[in-house]
Amino acid sequence: YPGGMSSAENLAVPDCLFCRIVAGQVPADLVAGTDRVVAFRDINPQAPLHVLVVPRDHHADVAQLAAVDPGLLADVVALAHEVAQTEADGAYRLVFNTGAEAGQSVFHVHGHVIGGRRLGWSPA
Ligand code: 5GP
Ligand code: ZN
Repeated sequence: YPGGMSSAENLAVPDCLFCRIVAGQVPADLVAGTDRVVAFRDINPQAPLHVLVVPRDHHADVAQLAAVDPGLLADVVALAHEVAQTEADGAYRLVFNTGAEAGQSVFHVHGHVIGGRRLGWSPA
């Protein structure tokens, strides 16, 4: 596998929901994509704009992606930005829940692109 220490990390994972969406085996409302990343609408939106951006290759979380293929993480960020320009006013929040205790439920890295309304922020 070019540029990787192990091929296993990047193979489509049969039981992974987002690998299945990327492969077209599970339907999704696709918004945008490139040869490396795909954006589709969250099935349970938390804001007028709520899109998930995923790499086509399987990586479990954002830290794994950053360690193994930082350029691919940059592609995720770039597509998130592009979607927010197109679908909202350009202001957005990009969230990577990491770990079950933080609310990660799908272990194929995905950036939540949230926008289209005023987003509150509380440190409490
Ligand atoms: P997490 O909780 O892992 O950060 O985010 C997973 C997200 O995937 C959730 O916001 C959830 O609503 C969304 N989701 C779960 N199942 C599906 C699905 O089958 N299709 C789509 N489009 N989104 C899904
Ligand atoms: Zn996957």
